[in-house]
Amino acid sequence: MSETIKKWSKVNIDKLNAKYTALDLHERIKEIYKDFDARDMILTSSFAANSSFLLHLYSKNAPVKPRVYFIDTFYHFEETLEYKNWLSRKYNLEVYDIIPDYEEHLRTRDHEMWKSNPNLCCDINKVRPIDRIKKNFKLWSSGLMRSQNEHRKHLNIFELKNGLIRFYPIIDVSLDDRQKYIEKHKLDYNPLVYKGYNSIGCSHCTEKGKDREGRWVGLAKTECGLHI
Ligand code: SF4
Repeated sequence: MSETIKKWSKVNIDKLNAKYTALDLHERIKEIYKDFDARDMILTSSFAANSSFLLHLYSKNAPVKPRVYFIDTFYHFEETLEYKNWLSRKYNLEVYDIIPDYEEHLRTRDHEMWKSNPNLCCDINKVRPIDRIKKNFKLWSSGLMRSQNEHRKHLNIFELKNGLIRFYPIIDVSLDDRQKYIEKHKLDYNPLVYKGYNSIGCSHCTEKGKDREGRWVGLAKTECGLHI
């Protein structure tokens, strides 16, 4: 059992959940930098359809320049990479790309693994790259929301998973409230939203559609494996 797990027992996680549930979104971001050292935290963004929502909250409330990690599978849409560069400059983010092992990645490319074995493809291009660096951190923050799918419906603001504390600061935000926030602050969407995409991942596995219905179309798969 890791030191982190021992220190962050379920009791502590329950206390964090009780405390943060009572806070608004801005206070949650401010508070996380008081409860944890910025060097111990990893914030990931896929620069997908509505990523500006969480990144705007961080840019407004973090006491230091937010460090954002982007998992570059080399299969992203060009528009996503442009959106990433645009938001990085606009919100003054320090963005780091996390990339897969190149030989393993080539194996997925040569075998078109997103068709033959998408779980292994996600494992090689997304899960293993982050597994290699996560031992350096205590807390991993990301923009999951309960309204997105069945698995996420059961998540709390803090979860303890595989040696890391997961922090989901917008987990309890409804799609309507997210929309209102985006409109109020005139936030930018990924440009693919204007072409009919509403959930955006790798180009091989993303189609146009409402909410997350355009992801891994025709497969039972709904998650890439990073969050389960
Ligand atoms: S989303 Fe598709 S292309 Fe991207 S890593 Fe997963 S299976 Fe491969």
